[in-house]
Amino acid sequence: MQAFGNFRRVALVSTSSQTVSTRISGLCRHFSSTPHSMAPISKETDYLVIGGGSGGLASARMASGKFGAKSMVIEGSRLGGTCVNVGCVPKKVTFNAALIAETIHEAKSYGFSVQESKPFDFTSFKHKRDAYIKRLNGIYERNLKNDSVEYVHGWAKLLNKNEVEITTDDGSKSTVRAKKILIATGGNPTAPPSNIPGSEFGLNSDGFFDIETLPKKVVLVGAGYIAVEFAGMFNALGSETHLFIRHNTFLRTFDSMIQNGVTEEYERLGVHLHKESVQTKIEKNPETGKLTIYYKDRDGESKLEDIDHLIWAIGRTPASKDIGLEDAGIKMTEKGHIIADDFQNTSVENIYALGDVCGKVELTPVAIAAGRRLAERLFGGEQFKAAKLDYSNIPSVVFAHPEVGSIGLTEPEAVEKYGKENIKVYNTSFTAMYYAMMEPEDKGPTKYKLICAGPEQKVVGLHIMGLGSGELLQGFGVAIKMGATKKDFDSCVAIHPTSAEELVTLK
Ligand SMILES: Cc1cc2nc3c(=O)[nH]c(=O)nc-3n(C[C@H](O)[C@H](O)[C@H](O)COP(=O)(O)OP(=O)(O)OC[C@H]3O[C@@H](n4cnc5c(N)ncnc54)[C@H](O)[C@@H]3O)c2cc1C
Repeated sequence: MQAFGNFRRVALVSTSSQTVSTRISGLCRHFSSTPHSMAPISKETDYLVIGGGSGGLASARMASGKFGAKSMVIEGSRLGGTCVNVGCVPKKVTFNAALIAETIHEAKSYGFSVQESKPFDFTSFKHKRDAYIKRLNGIYERNLKNDSVEYVHGWAKLLNKNEVEITTDDGSKSTVRAKKILIATGGNPTAPPSNIPGSEFGLNSDGFFDIETLPKKVVLVGAGYIAVEFAGMFNALGSETHLFIRHNTFLRTFDSMIQNGVTEEYERLGVHLHKESVQTKIEKNPETGKLTIYYKDRDGESKLEDIDHLIWAIGRTPASKDIGLEDAGIKMTEKGHIIADDFQNTSVENIYALGDVCGKVELTPVAIAAGRRLAERLFGGEQFKAAKLDYSNIPSVVFAHPEVGSIGLTEPEAVEKYGKENIKVYNTSFTAMYYAMMEPEDKGPTKYKLICAGPEQKVVGLHIMGLGSGELLQGFGVAIKMGATKKDFDSCVAIHPTSAEELVTLK
């Protein structure tokens, strides 16, 4: 693969990573300066939060910093949870690197003569990214202190509805009594299938962030947003990228426009898609460390050799096992997600759950918002007694190539809910002006779909793919959340020349 091989276009990007990063609260009260590892653990607290990830931290900080509840966060691994350490944040930083690789390539079309004196230094980039995450871990710890939240580094286990046992790093155990307990333990990458011999030679999505050198040849297995994002980044950075999917398209929970549009675009950009495929065996060469994947697809049996890394991105499993939930009587689904109602109440009084461990909408801002609403309801007094997160119309973005965004119902969902005769679908497909200076093979697609329902044509779904989709969707999300109709969209004067203007001029 040449230095900047198969990269093309990446959207201007945004993620919740930016919102979860460096803000340090101004609310500074009575906190001890003793490091968490040395401070004695309180025996009692008002609000004990298991899990120092997106949801847990947001909830504990609001309970303590805003409402003065005595709060404690127990985190067994690194503060910030999945998003900060092995999710949104390092992923987005890597996506930015891929974006730059593509921009360098595209710059030539605008008359720049960009000369690469050396290939992309992935190793230095990776170490710099690690250092950034480490800084964030420190900032998160300071945020807890600023909000007077007691932070205990250790693993928690529920003993009953008011008691939690904590095992700290040195193996010692303590028991804390709490008036209210929040379980915000998140999830972990689903283990590779044990029926495939050699599956353990692959990494999971956490392992993606440990890769030290840019692979020459890499394989991703999975059709969800994590596999698709990783594949897009590797391809843009110049790795020979193979993506194994079980069906003909990926991103299968998204509207068909996005499924088909991005799948076609990945093929056009040079990602090797192995459709309708299943892996049968993985072998590792003990001398070179390289992998061979044996697989079956619609053409029969085959193998792929000389692979530097195989990454399983086949889903997430809730972190609900062996932490005392069953003994405490907390009801879970078959997959192990905690069942919580709209107010984050579990089946046991005074025990609450939110975020990925509930599996409702597995996104950082969702966990944060649910955590804050819960803190308001539990500790904010009368005015917040009905506070809860509204899980409808949550926008989400995939940092694919091109970037995609989605809010509300897909077309089949809208048909099912309102009836085919009661919905109107507006589609547009065009080439963004950014590509005007480029050769035809360098031009990426932009596609938008607006789904409206009823005589007033209320917007019930918006699906977009193309440059800047993440930034673009946030604003339209506000309008849709407010109940915008097609007429409202049309009454907003277009901003020219942008891609987004197409959304307010749809015919
Ligand atoms: C590769 C990847 C990319 C992602 N990209 C995005 C994105 O771009 N945008 C987005 O919105 N979301 C993204 N997500 C999803 C996002 O990271 C999660 O939705 C979010 O982190 C969930 O927050 P949470 O608080 O529920 O759990 P987590 O953030 O997972 O936090 C749970 C914490 O609990 C701790 N814990 C677990 N059990 C115990 C115990 N018994 N005792 C003590 N501590 C415990 C864990 O160590 C962990 O730190 C991504 C996820 C992945 C994997």
